Formats: sequence, structure tokens, C-alpha cells
Amino acid sequence: MLEVILKGHDKYYGVADVVRLFCGVPEEVKDEHKIIAPEGPDATLINELFEDGRSVTYCNGKEYEFKGELLEPGREIKRSLYLALADVTSKELPWGCLTGIRPTLVACEEESAKDLEDKYFARSDKAKLAFETSREEQRLLALIPEDSLCIYVGIPFCPSRCEYCSFISSDISCHMDRLVHYEAALEREINMVASSINRPISAVYVGGGTPTVFEEREFDRLLNCLYSNLKITPECEVTVEAGRPDSITDGKLESMREHKVTRICINPQTMRSETLLRLGRKHTAEDTVRIYRQACDMGFDLINMDLIAGLPYEDAEEHVNSTKKLIEFSPANITVHTLYKKRRAAMSRSKVMDQEDEGIRLDRSVAQSYELLIEAGYHPYYMYRQKDTGHGLENTGFAKGNTGNLYNVAMMSDCRDVLSFGAGGMSKRCFKQDGELFKRRVERCATIKDALSYMARVEEMAQKKIEFFEM
Ligand code: SF4
Repeated sequence: MLEVILKGHDKYYGVADVVRLFCGVPEEVKDEHKIIAPEGPDATLINELFEDGRSVTYCNGKEYEFKGELLEPGREIKRSLYLALADVTSKELPWGCLTGIRPTLVACEEESAKDLEDKYFARSDKAKLAFETSREEQRLLALIPEDSLCIYVGIPFCPSRCEYCSFISSDISCHMDRLVHYEAALEREINMVASSINRPISAVYVGGGTPTVFEEREFDRLLNCLYSNLKITPECEVTVEAGRPDSITDGKLESMREHKVTRICINPQTMRSETLLRLGRKHTAEDTVRIYRQACDMGFDLINMDLIAGLPYEDAEEHVNSTKKLIEFSPANITVHTLYKKRRAAMSRSKVMDQEDEGIRLDRSVAQSYELLIEAGYHPYYMYRQKDTGHGLENTGFAKGNTGNLYNVAMMSDCRDVLSFGAGGMSKRCFKQDGELFKRRVERCATIKDALSYMARVEEMAQKKIEFFEM
């Protein structure tokens, strides 16, 4: 059992984030000055912050301190803790002591990738990835006018539930009637809110769940509603996450083409049919290829395809094979997500070791996928990490040429306002702050998550948003 005692500060969550990366999810403890990781090695560490801003972590009679220019205290305590944990566990992490979901935000502050290696112990390939992606994010962000609005429309339903899903999305196979009511509620909300919003729109993202889960009639009605109520100009980027190939029909593709949807996502996740079927996705890799070719033939030239590394029922090499296959099809965008469950509580020691080996293989396969994509002419344009992603790895969007998705960049940057429709959506306003180049003060307005409650209370949700954007 590993124990970290905080001294001279109360930055519990920052310390817990570093511990989590090395030793799995810490125990919930009431004492905010102590963190316990049941799966870590037997050791007690004292993580101290001094008044002069230095941080030292003590363990087994040794002192760990970063010698160099001081960073702000929250980062300094992570650096000394990282040095101690790397020594105690004999492990180094791909992202070093960078724990946040947006490493590119830190990269924006630095002059070179080397700074990320030297200051945060990021591995050279990750430092380079974050640095290059941060520059591309900044370039794309500059294309989105400050006063414009990004729109998100959430459809929290899917044709069936994928085994690995961590989103709030309901399997609709037994409740198809709900979709008609949900679409009507969305129309009501869009009608009410759109009339009070007088701002240009730069990007629209219809996501989920699976937006193409609607029947053709409802799907077309939703697009009509969006285009007739919102000021969507021909320059506006409009993405529809068609997502599951088993939900895409000729009629829905035709509807998107007529409305001039600019980007669609057709997501294989893996090009191995056996994995897909075992995961409950109800489509094969061949279905993905068929729909992709059909969409290309219909003139959709900006297609994103998602892959997930670390899926159950397949090994790391199979992820690399899927990347190779997708590159052959040459979609404009390929997004590589990482899925790797790392809840290690109650696992035997050998299982934990197996999982660590698995993490290393996953790390290698993701790096290999990136190399293949870059060799094939793709470049990273946005990225983010999630807390429970295995091995602390990230999700990265790759694009060819100038096809990076503005909505994704705007959303992750927290630098542009987002108006969100539908259950579970999060609208936000991002206010400039004096002296801050890349960080904004963000205010959020959440919509109720449960789809049935959303349908019942849609007018209240719409009113809340009208008032939020009037502030
Ligand atoms: S398609 Fe996506 S949102 Fe729907 S169940 Fe599968 S993983 Fe979840």
C-alpha cells in the first residue's frame, strides 16, 4: 500500500492525479492530507510545499526535488512527487507529471517541445505531439471569430449499447417511439432559443450517441429545423456524427447531402469484424467500408473515421492493422482514441503486472499508429486526455491538409462560446481575462442529463439557456 502525506499545502486533487497514473485509483479517504493507493508499492511519501515555492517529496530517507526554475506551486508539488514515484515504482510515464486533460494548453506556454521534456518529464514523442498539436489548434482557433457561436446538438440514443461505452446513451432498440418525442423536444428547444440568439455561427456538431439512430423522416426534420432556425451560412462547418455504420441509410446520406453537411463521421473503431460483433456493435468492418465508399461516391469529401486502441477482444497489433487499413481508404480525418480500463482494485499482483504489460503494449501500438498516420500525410490537430484512460494516454485527431475540425478545437480550447441543445448538453461562455493569452474564465450552463426528464422539461431548459446567453 502506498501512502502520500501532504505537508504545507492542500492540493489533494493534484497529488491524487499523479498517484492515479502510477498506482491506479486512490482510495476515497476523508482526510484531505493523505492519499492511499492500495495497489502501489509499500511506501510512505511526504509531499511538502515550502513558503518559497519549492516542493520536496521525501521517501525512504531520500529527498526528491526538481532543481531549476520554479513553476507555480500546483505544478511544483507534482514535479517532486513524480520524481519520487518514478524512483519508487521504477516507472516513467509517457506524459511525465502532466496530468490535465489538455497538455496542449501547457504546450502553448512553452517555446519548444524540449521545454515539455525538461520541465514536465514528458517523453520526447509526447512532447513533440503536444507542441505541434498546440500550434495547429491555435491556427484553427484563429479561424473562428471571437464573437461567433459553436452549436452542439446531442442525441443520447444508439441502435445498441457497445460494451465499452462510457457515454450517457440509451439503447433504443426497445423504445423507438421515444425518438419521435425526443426529436420534437429538440425542435421546440431550438425554436425557442434560436430566436433570441443573434450571433454568427461558426461550427455545428450533431453528436451523441448516434444521431443517425433517427428514422429518415425525423432525421431530415432535425436537419431542417437546424438550418431554418440558425444562421448557418455556406462557410459554416457542419458535422454530423453518423457514427455507427448500422444506422446509416441512403435516405439519411441524401438528407445530409441536400442540407450541405460539410463533414460526417463514420466510425469503425476497429477494422476487425469479430471484435465489433463481440462488443455489441451490430456491424462489420465490411459494412463500414461499404458505407464509406457510398458516402464518397455521393460527394462527401470530408469524412472522419474514429479508431479505438485498447478495445477488449483484440490485441495491440490489431489496432495497428486497423490503422493501416483506414489509411488505405484515405479519409480526410482519422481520430485515434485510447481505451484502457485501469481500475486495479481487487486484482491479484500478477494481474496488475499483466495489465501493466498491456499498458506498455498499448502505448507502443498508439505510437506506431501515429507514425503510420504521419508518414501517410496526416498531422495532429487536436488532442485531449481523460482521467481513466489507460497508461495516461490521449485521444488525438489527425487531419490531412486544412481539414481539422473547428468545433473540436473550439470545444477543447474553452476559448469560444458553445450553445448546446439536447439532454446532457453543456453550454458555455468563455470570457477573456487580463494578462491571460490562452486561458479564459468559463461559465457553464448544464442541461438535464436524463432524456425523459429533458423531454418533459424542455421549455424550462430552453429558458435557462436564453437567460444564460443574455447575461
Ligand atoms: S455508438 Fe458510441 S455512444 Fe453509442 S453505445 Fe457505442 S460507444 Fe456508446
